[in-house]
Amino acid sequence: MRRTDLVRERAEAERRLETLAADLAAVKQASEGSNADDEHDPEGATIAFEREQLSALVRRARQRVLDLDAALHRLDAGTYARCRTCGSTIPTERLEALPATQTCRDCA
Ligand SMILES: [Zn+2]
Repeated sequence: MRRTDLVRERAEAERRLETLAADLAAVKQASEGSNADDEHDPEGATIAFEREQLSALVRRARQRVLDLDAALHRLDAGTYARCRTCGSTIPTERLEALPATQTCRDCA
C-alpha cells in the first residue's frame, strides 16, 4: 500500500524531471541560435533568466527522485517511518504529506 504510493510518487517525479529536462534542452537550443549570450540583448537576458529558472527546477526534480529512491530503500530496510534524528515513529499523516521525509515534525 505505502510502497505503491511511493512507487507512484517516484514515477510522477521522474516524469516531471523528464519534462523539465526536455524544456531546458529546448531553451538551450533556442538560445544557441540567437544572440542569447549577449547581455545587451534584452531577449537574451530573458532567455538566460528562463534557463536559470528551469535549471533550478530540474535540480529540484532530480533531488526529489533521489529522495523518493532513498525512501523506498528505507522502506525495504524497515526504517522508513523512523525519524533519522530522534528515532521516534513519524506519524502517518506526516508521511502522507511528505513521503520522502526522514524526520519527525519536532526534528524537522
Ligand atoms: Zn525526531
